[in-house]
Amino acid sequence: MKAVALTNIKTLEVVEIPEINDPANGEVLIKVKSVGVCGSDMHYYRTGRIGSQVVAYPFVLGHEFAGEIVKAGGGVTNVRPGSRVAVDPAMSCGECDQCRAGREHTCRNLTFLGNPGQADGCMKEYIIMPANTCFELPDNLSFDDGMLCEPFSIGIYAVKSFGNVSRLDIGILGFGPIGMSVLSALKPNKPSSVIVSEKLDYRLRIASGFGADMAVNPLKEDLVAKVNEGYKNQLDVVFECCGQQDAVHQAIEMLKPGGTLMIVGIPEFDVWHLPVDQLRRKEITIKNVRRQNHCMQDAIDMLTEVSSDLKQMITHRVDYTKSQEVYDLVEAYEDNVMKAVVTF
Ligand SMILES: [Zn+2]
Ligand SMILES: [Zn+2]
Repeated sequence: MKAVALTNIKTLEVVEIPEINDPANGEVLIKVKSVGVCGSDMHYYRTGRIGSQVVAYPFVLGHEFAGEIVKAGGGVTNVRPGSRVAVDPAMSCGECDQCRAGREHTCRNLTFLGNPGQADGCMKEYIIMPANTCFELPDNLSFDDGMLCEPFSIGIYAVKSFGNVSRLDIGILGFGPIGMSVLSALKPNKPSSVIVSEKLDYRLRIASGFGADMAVNPLKEDLVAKVNEGYKNQLDVVFECCGQQDAVHQAIEMLKPGGTLMIVGIPEFDVWHLPVDQLRRKEITIKNVRRQNHCMQDAIDMLTEVSSDLKQMITHRVDYTKSQEVYDLVEAYEDNVMKAVVTF
């Protein structure tokens, strides 16, 4: 069968890989249909690593996907052949202290699709997954929508792990797919206002269209001055969704005393620099968000209810043989790209 493998920095090739066998007990064989191109895939594409995770070539990327169940192994009851499913790319052991505490996303033995040293990704025609990672899609959601459940689950989890956002003034720094998923998850919870900062103007326009109350390009305007002027009490919570050092500094300057910084973005460097004096005097809480936990079904429900709006996240769709082209486009932020989909 065919797979798309990363064979060097910024090089993707269609390769032939062995057919896969029957699924074992508790597993399913899935025909992959739609695969999303994620910012984290871009880190591997551009630099061959994220922190301590280093790619050994060739390597198959991809973790955001939906497909159709072809075969189910013994004991599988939640899905059956023919089921259309969204898939959670995180495979937890179910036995460690984290899993037992309901924190499967920080499982001590976690394997995550398309993560070097853990598991190959889903940029291939067929894949075997544990059945408990599969969530059946309702009829009105397409495979592309199913793929979007993974990025949307991250925004839902980020908002849930903060808590009640009702009547709060909130910042989102970075409006790629994850910033967009955070905004989508905030809106039904009735925040007082949401300020979005983003360096790409076309993404700011999307943010405004999605109901951001203030959309600022920090390359063109003084974000901190503008927010601190418009919001005398400053912000209650800021979601950092771009992995940028300057964004963390801005967040801390815009947060009110007692405010919370939620770090969702993945930086390409190893150490954050933090202004100790402000953090201490304002007693800022910093909380990291690690992917998502138990939010796939919430994402399916959210897409089912408000699908037409959220589907706009997908801006590009290509056949897998054109993966290199679309990765290059995402890498360069060309053609107003938000989320690109590779189909199999
Ligand atoms: Zn992703
Ligand atoms: Zn575990």
